Amino acid sequence: MGAPEAFTQTNDIGHWIGGRATPGQATRRQPVWNPATGAVARQVLLASAEDVNAAVAAAKAAQPAWGALPPLRRARVMNAFLALMNQHKDTLAAMITAEHGKVFTDAQGEVMRGIDIVEFACGIPQLLKGDYTDQVSTGIDNWTLRQPLGVVAGITPFNFPCMVPCWMFPVALACGNAFILKPSERDPSASLFMAELLAQAGLPDGVFSVVQGDKLAVDSLLTHPDVAALSFVGSTPIAQYIYETGAHHGKRVQALGGAKNHMVVMPDADLGQAVDALIGAAYGSAGERCMAISVAVLVGDVADKIVPLLAERARTLKVKNGMELDAEMGPIVTREARDRIEGTIGIGVEEGATLVVDGRGHSVKGFEQGFFTGGSLFDHVTPTMRIYKEEIFGPVLACVRVPDFATALALVNAHEFGNGVALFTSDGGVAREFSRQVQVGMVGINVPIPVPMAWHGFGGWKRSMFGDMHAYGEEGVRFYTKQKSVMQRWPDSIAKQGAGAEFVMPTSK
Ligand code: NAD
Repeated sequence: MGAPEAFTQTNDIGHWIGGRATPGQATRRQPVWNPATGAVARQVLLASAEDVNAAVAAAKAAQPAWGALPPLRRARVMNAFLALMNQHKDTLAAMITAEHGKVFTDAQGEVMRGIDIVEFACGIPQLLKGDYTDQVSTGIDNWTLRQPLGVVAGITPFNFPCMVPCWMFPVALACGNAFILKPSERDPSASLFMAELLAQAGLPDGVFSVVQGDKLAVDSLLTHPDVAALSFVGSTPIAQYIYETGAHHGKRVQALGGAKNHMVVMPDADLGQAVDALIGAAYGSAGERCMAISVAVLVGDVADKIVPLLAERARTLKVKNGMELDAEMGPIVTREARDRIEGTIGIGVEEGATLVVDGRGHSVKGFEQGFFTGGSLFDHVTPTMRIYKEEIFGPVLACVRVPDFATALALVNAHEFGNGVALFTSDGGVAREFSRQVQVGMVGINVPIPVPMAWHGFGGWKRSMFGDMHAYGEEGVRFYTKQKSVMQRWPDSIAKQGAGAEFVMPTSK
């Protein structure tokens, strides 16, 4: 592959409302950084409550006609969008690297996982097919159908500016809803680009909107009477706030939160594979993934064998500008986040953990102002330490030593988060027991980052998710639709029965 083309536009990033780009009221704005250079690349406009109201009004006006289209016609728009996403996938990936910092090849992977969900949404006619029972009683049939909710909104985090919105809007739109996206203000460009592609694909004006912004925009969506449902992905405190406030205002809510994902390495695991898995899953995307592995649970004598191998790899990670194709890890999203991560490493040292590899203060030649930190590795971490309990969301791997499988399982289950988990072993019986007993939503057996495919659905347990239905897959279809049951009898059959009014609970006759 040749060098990818960098995303260098400097114009302000605004909203997409009523089928066109708009600055809205443009009363507030904030910088969007290029994390590799440390420079302000462009400004993002922050929506006012009036801007959000305009998006909701446009969505409310457009939704009934969109929702009334045959699902196959909506699927055709999704198919056209799928083709455009595939055509422009490298443009999107370059946008992501320019604003998030992750390496270009990883950004390409993110875009592909988003495209997978668009592809899933193209099957909406089959997914919306209802259940039908002929003759529930003599002359009476009963069926269920699923109808759109109306106007729905999604609030997304910085770490997957393309994929996480794609967990939501393709399914919501295919189900017949109008969708309003409030992306992260730290990397807003991908959302606007996808809005343009949806318009090119033939999506009617107003059916998809983007409002850039912060808490003000989120709160306007949370309390708006015409927003029927909210999907959220982000940190746990905000997820809980969204869930509680949304529910208080009568909305359906799914709110996916933070994580502290463990990978248990059994003594019988292939240690080479386990090292590769830990390095990729802990330091890929600089650990800014909700499915990153941040805790290695090393069982029995594994630690003495594996920690030196991990240290060697962590020390030699290629930390570079993400547009360089051999980069393994790019910068952190903002200076503030980098400083917070490095501060947390200091806390770990004070708490008494052994800092085997110290990534703090990493400088990249030619990018001295970039928000870089190197990979850090701790050993002898214990469950009472803050670096064990809290989500760091950076390239920091904490090794915890445990004597046996039962202790490893109990450790994972006692953690407040339950997003993802992995077990490396060559024993099928242990693997089976682990999958059945672990209190975590997504489990990998010899797979470090078990992000479910588009048709399986994504969601954690415990404080990693608030709400009942997971993102995308069939749960996504259920989330974005409400079920209606129709029971039908025709005049003919009524005449035949001639029973007159019935005052007892009807039963099958
Ligand atoms: P964040 O919670 O700071 O922000 C997420 C969204 O909420 C953004 O759109 C932001 O503008 C908005 N927001 C922030 N503060 C708010 C407030 N006080 N009131 C209302 N809205 C507010 O998260 P982030 O830093 O963008 O993303 C990283 C976090 O997301 C990590 O905790 C990570 O684990 C989590 N995450 C979870 C998943 C998952 O599937 N469980 C996936 C990706 C990221």
